Amino acid sequence: MTVAPERTDNGITQERRLVTAIPGPKSQALMARRTAAVSAGVGGTMPVFAERAGGGIVEDVDGNALIDLGSGIAVTTIGNANPLVAAAVAEQAARFTHTCFMVTPYEGYVAMCEALNRLTPGEHVKRSVLVNSGAEAVENAVKIARAATGRQAVVVFEHAYHGRTNLTMALTAKNMPYKHSFGPFASEVYRLPMSYPFRDGPHGGAEVAAWATTRIDKEIGAGNVAAILIEPVQGEGGFIVPAPGYLPALAQYAAANGIVFIADEVQSGFCRTGEWFASTHEGVIPDLVITAKGIAGGLPLAGVTGRADIMDAVHVGGLGGTYGGNPIACAAGLASIEWMQTQDANGRARALEALMLERLKELQLAHPVVGDVRGRGAMIAIELTQPGTLIPDADRAGAVAKACHAQGVIVLTCGTYGNVLRFLPPLTISPELLNEGLDVVADAFAATA
Ligand SMILES: *Cc1c(COP(=O)(O)O)cnc(C)c1O
Repeated sequence: MTVAPERTDNGITQERRLVTAIPGPKSQALMARRTAAVSAGVGGTMPVFAERAGGGIVEDVDGNALIDLGSGIAVTTIGNANPLVAAAVAEQAARFTHTCFMVTPYEGYVAMCEALNRLTPGEHVKRSVLVNSGAEAVENAVKIARAATGRQAVVVFEHAYHGRTNLTMALTAKNMPYKHSFGPFASEVYRLPMSYPFRDGPHGGAEVAAWATTRIDKEIGAGNVAAILIEPVQGEGGFIVPAPGYLPALAQYAAANGIVFIADEVQSGFCRTGEWFASTHEGVIPDLVITAKGIAGGLPLAGVTGRADIMDAVHVGGLGGTYGGNPIACAAGLASIEWMQTQDANGRARALEALMLERLKELQLAHPVVGDVRGRGAMIAIELTQPGTLIPDADRAGAVAKACHAQGVIVLTCGTYGNVLRFLPPLTISPELLNEGLDVVADAFAATA
């Protein structure tokens, strides 16, 4: 990795530094204001408030420097406040901040769609639409698939996460905290078996796919299905990488039955897994690809990209939104793509994968509570179970995460059973800093044994 320092470095010293207890006094004071001002319904991982961030570090308001193994949930893939993004944002913000693309269009939106059309899998003619969030993009993908097919049913999977709006709550699997008390949910959503190698016993990808497609045939009717919607590597559900053959079998079934195959690459896309899109690991070419999170260096931007005939099946005016494809977000997105292309983002993700897998497999040998080590690229997780069983150990996962936080390392949990620790470092983290972060994780396992 030979990278000019100015390309990743926004001046933040790349070392972990604890100068107060976590949280320090300034964070505690802000937390009191937060409690008084912000809805209690908004969750929180870290008890500290951010002051600045970059490379692999988040600095808090008390001067503590934390190692970032979360990237703000897979968003700041190219490093927080990446200088290329910061410059593009400043330049665009000084020219114009908004016109509404549907009122007075601007080049940045078109250029961002051109880039998405070029970068997503497949050589076919494509079109894109830009929106503001992952959930909004998922909603639009379903609208487009329904309009293009004249069908209503949407097939989703166990452990899926697609967002928090009404339709995307229906598409999401997990009750707490995403759905509980928020129903009724949208109809015509059908949940089918997901390939989960750690928990599937001897059943391989093609076999689990057949369980799902048989149920489509028998319970829904293939001719009623508008879309099969899936995360090629599941995110919030536990970083589940389906067994080889599972995704291709679903994609083939969709193609054979006139069903739109939609890949939700919101978390797995944009070089997170060592490919531009995770679908590519299995040679799958989705009809529609949903993007967000890592797309724009932290600015809110999301998209739906896919086959021109499907994308153009919607009536004029059927897609859009006031802020969709905001010019500042598009400038940030184009800068992010330039960074990913010129700084070998996929190579960096693969290097981080090798480092993390090696360290975490060592951890697994030392601590049998680590039942599974899995993931792709810079999207790696460990699943904690009672040793030798599949019984989830969410308490231990929570205790380890808490111990890491107290030692200045940001780690996130996930999984249907809440027993998965996930690692999503920015691609700008140095191997030294990542190793130090993983040392802290190992210490946290020892301390909570
Ligand atoms: C985060 C996420 C979403 C929702 O994105 P938001 O921007 O939070 O609305 C949808 N799908 C997947 C796979 C995600 O990880």
